[in-house]
Amino acid sequence: MLRTAIESAEGVAEKRSFVVEGETSPFKFAIIQPMKIVDILNSKKVSLSFEVFPPKKLEALESIKKTAVELTSLNPDFISVTFGAGGTTQGYTADIAQAIENQGTAALAHLTCVRSTTEALNNIISNLKEKNISNVLALRGDFPKDAAEDENVFPSGFVHASDLVSLLKKEGFCVGGACYPEGHPESTSRETDIENLKHKVDAGVDFLTTQMFFDNDMLYSFLYRLQSAGIHVPVLAGIMPITNANQVSRMVDLSNAYIPRKLLAICDRFRNSPEAMMQAGIAYATDQIIDLISNGVRGIHIYTMNKPAIAKAIISNVNEIIKATNK
Ligand code: FAD
Repeated sequence: MLRTAIESAEGVAEKRSFVVEGETSPFKFAIIQPMKIVDILNSKKVSLSFEVFPPKKLEALESIKKTAVELTSLNPDFISVTFGAGGTTQGYTADIAQAIENQGTAALAHLTCVRSTTEALNNIISNLKEKNISNVLALRGDFPKDAAEDENVFPSGFVHASDLVSLLKKEGFCVGGACYPEGHPESTSRETDIENLKHKVDAGVDFLTTQMFFDNDMLYSFLYRLQSAGIHVPVLAGIMPITNANQVSRMVDLSNAYIPRKLLAICDRFRNSPEAMMQAGIAYATDQIIDLISNGVRGIHIYTMNKPAIAKAIISNVNEIIKATNK
């Protein structure tokens, strides 16, 4: 029997789906199963989730775990944890994801295949299974800028995220993928990018999360194009609150996102007033989210930049809206 419980287990708030077996036997026991994100998305009219990233150094791992745990207290539907492609800190992703799951919140562990051998990927997958993580965001990772001409940057033979999706689905994970409302920077056109995205969806992704965007119209036209391409999996809108004016150029470098004049004006006007910039950036992100929910977008994914205070401020601006939508 499948039940959803909100009860306490060993002092930890438990809000997972679990299978109860042996109810009629004298030894009543429960096998706790981690929540699959696709089930959460299908059960709600609108979901809200966060992203955190792991530290570069081991010394900071505990503090990031605390940040992630603090974010769980805001009751998101799940929290995703990024993965340092080709980095030395890749194991931290699973550790942080486990800390999130221990709080009864679903975790989504990111995984990239660039510069990974088959053995390394298999080790990470085993580690995720041992830690009872059942949701993975399958990514290729950025093509390394420092790669030598003769370097094989895909030693596993996994050249596209879709290759990793197939493997993870075979391993029984709920699998997400990335998508790009303004086109992936390597793509020759937005149409080609969507054709390639279709391969990823056909390989079995359960949902997609978008790259950050600052103009909602970019997302709306992307969603129409997905529909015409026959892509019908849930799409979570990635929202990056810009709370520091210097972030903007970094974000444009990272994502190629179009920055509307309204956001540029905010950055210009409040560049040297950190508190005002923070307030205006939160208001801008809030405005984006309200518009998205009003127009029927069903998933909001906030890039928190490991700052619970920003996530908290946004949630307090939209929690009634989300509650009302989910009634
Ligand atoms: P793919 O889906 O493989 O696409 C990459 C390029 O190849 C695209 O141009 C696509 O059009 C093309 N392509 C795809 N399939 C095919 C095909 N079959 N034939 C021909 N061309 C094809 N990076 C990290 O290092 N760690 C993270 O944790 C991380 N998290 C992310 C989370 C989100 C929500 C997003 C949007 C990005 C994230 N990234 C992360 C960045 C991501 O790794 C880069 O954007 C990377 O360049 C592409 O990854 P992908 O999974 O989208 O690749």
